[in-house]
Amino acid sequence: MLNLEWNNRLEAWRAELKKQLYRPLGPITVSGFVTLEHLTPQQALRRKFRPMPVGTVWGAEWEYAWFRTQITVPKSAAGQRIIAYPAHYESVAFVNGTKAYMTGRNQPLLLTRRAKAGEKFNILFESYAGHGASPCAAGPVPLDRVTVPKALPTQAIVAATTFGIWQEEVYQLMIDVETLVGLMTKTPATSLRTVKVEEGLRDFTLLVDFEQPNEEFLASCRDARKRIAPLLACKNGSTTPVMYCFGHAHLDTAWLWPLQHSKRKAARSLAKQLELMEEYPEHRFLFSQPAQYVWLMKHYPELYTRVKRAVAAGQVIPDGAMWVESDTNIPSGESLIRQFIHGKRFFREQFGINSRVFWEPDAFGYSGALPQIMQGCGVKYFSTQKIFGSSEGGDSFPYNDFIWEGIDGSTVRAFNHHDYCSQTRTDETIMRWHWRRQRENISTILFPFGWGDGGGGPERDHLEFIRRHKDLEGVPIMKLAAPIDFFHDLERVATPNRYVGEMYFQEHRGTYTSQARTKRGNRQSEFAMHDAELWGTIAAVVAGYKYPLAHFDAVWKEILLNQFHDILPGSSIRRVHEEAEAAHQEIITAANQVSHMAQSALVKKASRSLTVFNSLGWDRQSLVEIPENVPLPNGATIQKVAGKTFAEITVPACGWTNIQNTSCKQSAGVTAKTNLLENDRLRIVFNKAGEITSICDKQSGHELTAGPCNRFLLYKDVPGNWDAWNIDSMYELQPVDITAPARIEVITSGPLFGTLRLTRSIGKSQLTQEITLRCGSAQVDFITVLDWQERHKLLKVAFPVNVHADEAIHEIQFGHLHRPTHRSRQYDAARFEVSQHKWTALAEEGRGCALLNNCKYGVNVLGNSINLTLLRAPLGPDMLADRGRQEFTYSFFAWNGSLADSGIVRAAYELNSPVTTVRGDAGEQSWFRIDAPNVIIDTVKPAEDGSGDVIVRLYESMRTATHCSLKVGLPFAKAAQTNMLEQQPVKLAIKNGAVALEFRPFEVKTVRLH
Ligand SMILES: [Zn+2]
Repeated sequence: MLNLEWNNRLEAWRAELKKQLYRPLGPITVSGFVTLEHLTPQQALRRKFRPMPVGTVWGAEWEYAWFRTQITVPKSAAGQRIIAYPAHYESVAFVNGTKAYMTGRNQPLLLTRRAKAGEKFNILFESYAGHGASPCAAGPVPLDRVTVPKALPTQAIVAATTFGIWQEEVYQLMIDVETLVGLMTKTPATSLRTVKVEEGLRDFTLLVDFEQPNEEFLASCRDARKRIAPLLACKNGSTTPVMYCFGHAHLDTAWLWPLQHSKRKAARSLAKQLELMEEYPEHRFLFSQPAQYVWLMKHYPELYTRVKRAVAAGQVIPDGAMWVESDTNIPSGESLIRQFIHGKRFFREQFGINSRVFWEPDAFGYSGALPQIMQGCGVKYFSTQKIFGSSEGGDSFPYNDFIWEGIDGSTVRAFNHHDYCSQTRTDETIMRWHWRRQRENISTILFPFGWGDGGGGPERDHLEFIRRHKDLEGVPIMKLAAPIDFFHDLERVATPNRYVGEMYFQEHRGTYTSQARTKRGNRQSEFAMHDAELWGTIAAVVAGYKYPLAHFDAVWKEILLNQFHDILPGSSIRRVHEEAEAAHQEIITAANQVSHMAQSALVKKASRSLTVFNSLGWDRQSLVEIPENVPLPNGATIQKVAGKTFAEITVPACGWTNIQNTSCKQSAGVTAKTNLLENDRLRIVFNKAGEITSICDKQSGHELTAGPCNRFLLYKDVPGNWDAWNIDSMYELQPVDITAPARIEVITSGPLFGTLRLTRSIGKSQLTQEITLRCGSAQVDFITVLDWQERHKLLKVAFPVNVHADEAIHEIQFGHLHRPTHRSRQYDAARFEVSQHKWTALAEEGRGCALLNNCKYGVNVLGNSINLTLLRAPLGPDMLADRGRQEFTYSFFAWNGSLADSGIVRAAYELNSPVTTVRGDAGEQSWFRIDAPNVIIDTVKPAEDGSGDVIVRLYESMRTATHCSLKVGLPFAKAAQTNMLEQQPVKLAIKNGAVALEFRPFEVKTVRLH
């Protein structure tokens, strides 16, 4: 080990060496203008530039400045590597035309590797002023503190900058020395290797003489390089781990900056990598999100052309499989499939590449439905690093290399890497091997390197270190390669490791709830598109309707973009969520327009009647508001509420009926009193606070409550870190008293339904809830509007039920899974808040209770209490997250018999997908119908290839192998089962217009009808 004296000397020499890298030649003066627009360089050059001397302030919130300057290389610098430091802010630079280069904050811009005397460089660059602070952690926040202050009126200042010579010989010596220093600190102190390295480093300080004119100093650097060169030529022995490395820039599509700024970040990142590839042809860079390629194509066409060339040369690697690196807890199953359909199609069409690696480094947990969806989309490999990343402890994830098995038994090969913002310094490279999670059955590692989150990616240093780590004694071998090459090599050896089920992330549990309007918009967009695709498809086949294939392709991409892992989880700044909410409104409007046009094309007969449409794959009874002048059949049971007339209509599966088919059910009706809702199935008693004190199941005689239900629970919710992301477990220790007087009124009581209105305050927030029970139903709907005005609070609604189970059942995409209702082990305790889709249930063998929802994803079940998470109020990075009007519906649902026979999946779909009506009469029709109640027709759509074929996607929902038949009303000649990309058809037998199908438990099937 170097003694203190030598160590001090080495430190001093290393520090001085860094100061000798750059020799300024002259100042840079700029002229410029500011704008909020995203201009091309050509557009910018047509604007008026005014002088902006050093000290000029500029840059309001969201503002950009375009600057220009000219640099002339003096004679004395001929032959040198010339760089400039033009920008103090994140910038995209264009040198001598439209070719984009990257500069970051105070980062050098390479002008030439070998200057000519008098050579001129015209530099144009666009710099971002910023938008103020975006804190992710707030901690405890006193009432008078503003966590996200408004940006200053001018945020930026033109600073004194220079251009000059980059002393390449000094730089190369610096990397040599840093390599040896890294090695010395991480290899055993007593090894001969370490001792030899120490001797070399001591000699380096004796040889390099800074106290000389520059030429002599450079000569001393050359002598030092010669002295230490043999140490860098030493090779490893025969047992050395191999790291498959590739450059990467984790680029959040939106996060602490808006989408429009990510476009610049993508350009900067790629421009930088292309520049590096000219000097380092061995460089490999993974660029993983097609949505970001499209930005380059549209805004930076010159850059995109160069990216395409680099892809052809094998340098830029297009892979990752999804359209964006999506959240996977919240999107529907169909959305996840579309992520792969659109992602893979882009890579294939643009680059001829079959993308097979699902690159998902940063999402907050990985759904147990993914292995099947990946397999169905021809995506064989998975990689993340997040699952190791919980800063809150918990039960640690055991493997790097493993087989991942989903809820249906499908498997993919997975390899979890470490860190997506990695450096390649020698010490880090050595430690990367030591950090690996798995000690045995592993000899290679996937190693993305480069700066990330806001993009950027590798710099020269990264690649220089990798050049030195090709095979250097004491350092793992670094090999530049694409992720797919890693997986192909990995797969040659079977792994004994198998991980079954979801990869639950033991942190960021608040992301199932934060920014509730973004989540609701996503759910509504998914269902609006579900309906529009179904009716558009049917109308195209039977009524000559022109299906808007290209338009819907674009609409889907908007849905997919907003499922990005910082948008849908609710962890972005305010502007991102405002834009997401606006995007969802546009999506829903576009989808509803198509549904309406298609339905109108289907209902040709002008008539005073009304046609009711059911987009779900089973017959259903639905309450329908009947417009005033629509004649109802004689004897129809109706109920009038506040001047509106309601009737119950039975509507056939994926079809319609007119209101002549009113189901005139003569039941006992529903009694509503201020403390009671009762029908022939349930008797529900309320207290004065609007809580339910008793639910009697009149069929079985069981009392279903085990405590007050519909009880609101408000907690202090102050995460120690990651405000919008985390719910810390100690929230339970800080309940907030919300006892307040409530008002309950009877809205209606009658043959078809009874409704109570509950009005009360919760903290500073006002709640109005319409509580409805329909005749013959064991479901109570709570249609809720809340003016939410809290800070750092968490709102849940509790339903403690009289059901005994040590696991709760949670719906996820295309199925469900079980999670503990207790905290016996660390593994159980860590799951104190989990994600769900449309329902969570507690079930005994012969009965059960559940909560359904129309837009809520967070829940916890402790003992026998189902606690649905309704709202949070994080203070960063959006200080006003979730304030204001909130709308949501949840439903209590009870059944007797098995879960499989409960009808819960159907009930949850019905809650999310109300029937729709169009004036006119088209008789009665059903177009798709399945004869097994556990098999769900999830999606009907036209084939992606524009052939006019119809795609029906179905899944088995109750973990039960099932034979069934799909009855199709549309005329069709052939039926085939395909993969989820609608390819590789296998013929299916047709009998009497029905297609015979056989399902594995939780299997998803794609049927193509010609
Ligand atoms: Zn991210």
